[in-house]
Amino acid sequence: MAILVAGGAGYIGSHMVDRLIEKGHDVVVVDNLSTGHKAAINEQARFYQGDTRDKAFLTNVFKQEKIDGVIHMDAFSLVGESMKDPLKYFDNNIYGMIVLLEVMKEQGVKYMVFSSTAATYGEPENELIAETDTQEPINPYGESKLAMERMIRWADEAYGIKFVALRYFNAAGAKADGSIGEDHHPETHLIPIILQVAAGQRDELQIFGGDYKTPDGTNVRDYVHVLDLADAHMLALAYLQAGNPSQAFNLGSSTGFSNQQMLEAARKVTGKTIPAKIAPRRGGDPDSLVADSQKARKVLGWQPQYDDVEDIIRTAWAWKQSHPQGYGDK
Ligand code: UDP
Repeated sequence: MAILVAGGAGYIGSHMVDRLIEKGHDVVVVDNLSTGHKAAINEQARFYQGDTRDKAFLTNVFKQEKIDGVIHMDAFSLVGESMKDPLKYFDNNIYGMIVLLEVMKEQGVKYMVFSSTAATYGEPENELIAETDTQEPINPYGESKLAMERMIRWADEAYGIKFVALRYFNAAGAKADGSIGEDHHPETHLIPIILQVAAGQRDELQIFGGDYKTPDGTNVRDYVHVLDLADAHMLALAYLQAGNPSQAFNLGSSTGFSNQQMLEAARKVTGKTIPAKIAPRRGGDPDSLVADSQKARKVLGWQPQYDDVEDIIRTAWAWKQSHPQGYGDK
């Protein structure tokens, strides 16, 4: 039986696929390569290029392969872009989920591990966000992921599709050997942008907003290594296959770092000056997003290997130095 990774050519997806293969799983990848990279997919995975919204395409993949469970990582994920073009997010993310669930139902596939996000919470009620906290997104990206979470819940009720929704905080880093990593076009994420400045590809970092309600005025986020995220998905799938009930888990480090602190950490890791200035707010950014991720540790037995943000940045820097232009395909 194979595991299908939808969005397996993306940043998190490619690390997921690599990890599954390392652990001896049979892996099928579906990706339309709109933001992903073919070169990022481990060669031992069977790759089908196509769109999750294309039901005929997806049905064909499920018919050709024996799929036991789906890891659904296929979505647009940029807060800023979603503020400018919400319908793009609702179409790709929500409609894609509808079709995927329909095909799973028709083909009798019962398990889904779904990439959800801290952005489903909106402005947090508590310093450490727990899974039971109110989910009131403040951007269309978070709204789309919340709708997707709710859809699977009803698909579980009606069709018995069991799910784990993993609410990631900020995915970061890369496989330590520098062979795969983060490569977005355009790049919008904090760490890769800081490293572009460190590598001399960009003049300066613009820190979006210096007047947030945080100790140094810049946004606080919770960074978690991409391979630790991948491990949580494998544990979640095993949890479902063991007959456990559907539920959601936060995945973070439970430690917050401000944008200013991330800049300092990157200066230390790279030994570069990294010029930076405070710029206007980006829109859609909550002050602070830090996970209480005890539940994933207790229930799934998740034990993140990376607990130091400098180590995480170091892996991203290794990727940047070995692949200054990313995969070079866009
Ligand atoms: N950020 C920034 N400058 C940039 C890119 C990002 O100040 O050039 C900030 C962004 O406003 C947020 C944090 O870095 O406070 C993390 O943003 P990112 O896009 O990496 O992840 P997100 O939190 O949106 O998932």
